Amino acid sequence: MNCPICKNPEYQELDYGGYFYRGAEYPLVSCKFCGLKYILNDLSDKDIADLYQEEKYFDAEYAGGATHSYEENKSAQNKKADFALKFISHFKSGGKLLDVGCAGGYFVERARDKYNYEAKGIELSEHMVKFAKSRGLDVHAAHAKQRLGVGVTIWR
Ligand SMILES: [Zn+2]
Repeated sequence: MNCPICKNPEYQELDYGGYFYRGAEYPLVSCKFCGLKYILNDLSDKDIADLYQEEKYFDAEYAGGATHSYEENKSAQNKKADFALKFISHFKSGGKLLDVGCAGGYFVERARDKYNYEAKGIELSEHMVKFAKSRGLDVHAAHAKQRLGVGVTIWR
């Protein structure tokens, strides 16, 4: 599989591990040219859309190397969000921000509440969209191919 952004075929596997799905492991890799981190897989768009509809997708059992579920991991997620948002703020403080693949919206929530961004998210998982909306976040079920905004983060 080539890098989804720059199409470079060379990558290196990362220590984090990867994901388990239907008996197969899909490693997390980093593109040797542009540094994009992506899941090495041969799944179709439909397979991926189906995967994200499984409620347990965000539980630790799917993520190799993860020991806590998404919800149990909020404080660690917020630390990563703070790191990224402080960096982003150097270039653009406030304004619109779209988190592509926002899961349950912890990054969107942090960007909105602590850094004053007009933050929105898109996510394939209907389950995670419901979780985000239940907390008042502007998050929608969509694929990145369908909706892109002004500021974009690709966050894992
Ligand atoms: Zn690349």
